[in-house]
Amino acid sequence: STMPPLLSAIANAGRHGVLAKSAVVMERLGQVDAVALDKTGTLTEGTPRVTEIRTLPGSGLDEDGLLALAAAAEQPSEHPLARAVVDAARERCLSLPEALDFSSAPGQGVSVTVAGRTVQVGSPARLSAATGPASAAVAELEETGQTAVLVLRDDGPVGVIGIADRLRRDAAATVTALTGLTGRSPVLLTGDNERAARHLAAQVGITDVRAGLLPQDKAAAVQKWEAEGRKVLVVGDGVNDAPALAAAHTGIAMGKAGSDLALETADAVVVRDELATVPAVVALSRTARRLVV
Ligand code: ADP
Ligand code: MG
Repeated sequence: STMPPLLSAIANAGRHGVLAKSAVVMERLGQVDAVALDKTGTLTEGTPRVTEIRTLPGSGLDEDGLLALAAAAEQPSEHPLARAVVDAARERCLSLPEALDFSSAPGQGVSVTVAGRTVQVGSPARLSAATGPASAAVAELEETGQTAVLVLRDDGPVGVIGIADRLRRDAAATVTALTGLTGRSPVLLTGDNERAARHLAAQVGITDVRAGLLPQDKAAAVQKWEAEGRKVLVVGDGVNDAPALAAAHTGIAMGKAGSDLALETADAVVVRDELATVPAVVALSRTARRLVV
């Protein structure tokens, strides 16, 4: 064709299922020599499901009551864990109590007011009250590879919900391909707990796992790597990935379940829901670069 090489590279990337926002993106993508991957929604399918519901002594709630309370809090959230909770409540045909004053802290969880009481749902590591029976339940769920979500009412733990997600079918092949392209294994950056993260990373051959990270921690990890001279590709899907996507040499967002903020912040978007398109476009952008230089 008569198109300039970088433009035809964009068109080619589009055919592979990745939408680059500009020709410059294709050029920068061709320069990356290190990769940081998010876990939930990126390495995994991002459609986690509720696998266990545990009420805590003194909560006065049964399983359905706990699930309904958590779902009421999670309803406005676009986080994959929130969707899992809401879907589970819907499957049981539960009616949800009215929740007011919704707020969310990316990488941590959500908070609402239900019947005049504060209800928080989120990371056990970030909600300080995970002690006693709550922390025992959390540890048991995490040791089996589940993500434990803690439910607090007026700062007291009332239950723990276990949620599990599946690895994408092409996750291991993608990690292998990216390792081949950059000469180093990708790093896993996640806000989730260390136990669940390592459990998953081991299955795709990732050994460098940074867990329990807040959004700004993910960005700081990328910045540190860039300061050491790396040109880092970040792949993520969540609101919590936006600062890292912005800090990266190039950021790619998973389009299908990606949050609006991640899609806006990223330089390119995976429009076909396949992680393996990421190494494919990296390879493609290198070919395009060679044609230009
Ligand atoms: P990842 O980096 O793997 O995509 P996140 O940073 O999005 O994970 O989330 C990190 C942790 O924060 C989750 O494992 C969970 O414990 C907690 N969390 C974040 N948002 C929510 C939410 N809406 N509901 C429950 N827990 C949440
Ligand atoms: Mg994610």
